[in-house]
Amino acid sequence: MTDFSPTYCPQCGKATFARKHGTCYVCQSCQFEYYHNTAAAVAGLIEWQGKILLTRRAKEPFAGRLDLPGGFIDPAESLEQGLSREIFEELGIHINDWRYVASGANQYVYKNVRYNTLNSLFVAKLNDQPQLTLQTSEIIETVWADKSHFDPNELAFASLQRLVQAYLQE
Ligand SMILES: [Zn+2]
Repeated sequence: MTDFSPTYCPQCGKATFARKHGTCYVCQSCQFEYYHNTAAAVAGLIEWQGKILLTRRAKEPFAGRLDLPGGFIDPAESLEQGLSREIFEELGIHINDWRYVASGANQYVYKNVRYNTLNSLFVAKLNDQPQLTLQTSEIIETVWADKSHFDPNELAFASLQRLVQAYLQE
């Protein structure tokens, strides 16, 4: 696993591209500057009759582990819009009434590169059991876990464990 550390400048192509400070990368030849900013992500806690909806990951990282539905925010989306889109893609249901809970920083390793992410947790309480259509490329199965007995440490990501813990203790 490595930090983001490209050598070649994406503008002039010379091997004079390097990190200047923090998230800032600069080319010594053409002065091109790039900021490798934190990526925004969202997770949705869907509640129905005292149970919370968990997904089992089909993909690395953490394939086979429990997770919450959600994902990365696309350009021009709000957190709520991105979450509603992800929920529809992964579960086939429309939810637009989200309540913000908390956020937490995380690092996400994908194909050996470490990304800094900021994950925000939202909650939606449903009156009726939703009829789910799973995106099987992302999710193996869903599990309704009893809210009062669920151990957040069963979740794949440490940042999500802390966020769900914070919600369950509210
Ligand atoms: Zn350059």
